[in-house]
Amino acid sequence: MKAQVFRGVNQLSYEEISVPTLEADEVLVQVLVVGLCQSDIKKIRYPLYEPPRIFGHETAGMIASVGSQVQGWTVGQRVAVMHHIPCMRCAYCLNDNFSMCDVYKNISTTAGFNASGGGFAEYVKVPGHIVQNGGLIPIPDDISFEEASFVEPTNCCLKAVKKAQLAPGQTVLVTGAGPIGLMFMMLVKYFGGRAIATDLLPSRIEKALEVGAEAAFDARDPDLPAKIQALTRGMGVDFTLLAVPSDKAFFQALDCTRKGGKILFFAEFPDEVEIPINPNILYRREIDLMGSYSSSYRLQGLSADIVFNRRIDVKALISGHYPLKDLSQAVNQAIAPTPETYKILIYP
Ligand SMILES: [Zn+2]
Ligand SMILES: [Zn+2]
Repeated sequence: MKAQVFRGVNQLSYEEISVPTLEADEVLVQVLVVGLCQSDIKKIRYPLYEPPRIFGHETAGMIASVGSQVQGWTVGQRVAVMHHIPCMRCAYCLNDNFSMCDVYKNISTTAGFNASGGGFAEYVKVPGHIVQNGGLIPIPDDISFEEASFVEPTNCCLKAVKKAQLAPGQTVLVTGAGPIGLMFMMLVKYFGGRAIATDLLPSRIEKALEVGAEAAFDARDPDLPAKIQALTRGMGVDFTLLAVPSDKAFFQALDCTRKGGKILFFAEFPDEVEIPINPNILYRREIDLMGSYSSSYRLQGLSADIVFNRRIDVKALISGHYPLKDLSQAVNQAIAPTPETYKILIYP
């Protein structure tokens, strides 16, 4: 089969490799669509992981074969594949911090080499513990593989929105109107909140309004805090979702979030970034800082419901389609987005 093998920083190699062989409890999925995620791009561009590896984790496809002891799954079934599943037993899992679980962090779906997702290949092997614990999600007949590939990123965004405890009627500042920021706006609207967006690109400011943001501004606008006050009866937003790794966006969030509000870090910053902060801002204004990484096992059902019942329009986020052989071009496009670049899908 063909696969895009990570052979070193910025070295993707389109190679012929053997199809993974199955143990008795494993399932092989033919990958039909896989979303290109910011985290894939980081893993390709920075020295974070030893090569060789095959990344790609927003996977949707069709079951191609099942191990002799697999029950309940048959060849030809359409499925979305979750690339990691928590153990449900450790102290983190028992406290609902599934993404901190060692079993969860240890990605085990693979197309070959060190397991790293394996979506950027024609076939991916799903290990027994993922098959048995809800990591294969059946795709309804009327839902395309493209749409199904959004179940995983939807879960990640949903987890952040839930962590910030969005209540109906609340106002949320979303900094950054790329694919993740836009999905945040859709979810905020779906749960009855009001989203205000910022971005640097006029096309993305426009797009934010199209997908349901109540207002959208240029992030460089010096009057941004005043404009947000005007939209929130002088209070500021209830919380801010940082969908760009920018310290400027964080300081803007401090200016725009109400007393007693929250600021949630979603985008991953480069490791060398440090943000100085006067602790009294947090103390006197009771601002809560929080982070949200990856998805939540507990939100898997709701994420599938949101995508499969089209409660948000994930198709509006798709802006590019690339065959697997052109993955490098897709990455370049995502790094240097044109005004129309949002979510890019790969077709193995
Ligand atoms: Zn992802
Ligand atoms: Zn655990």
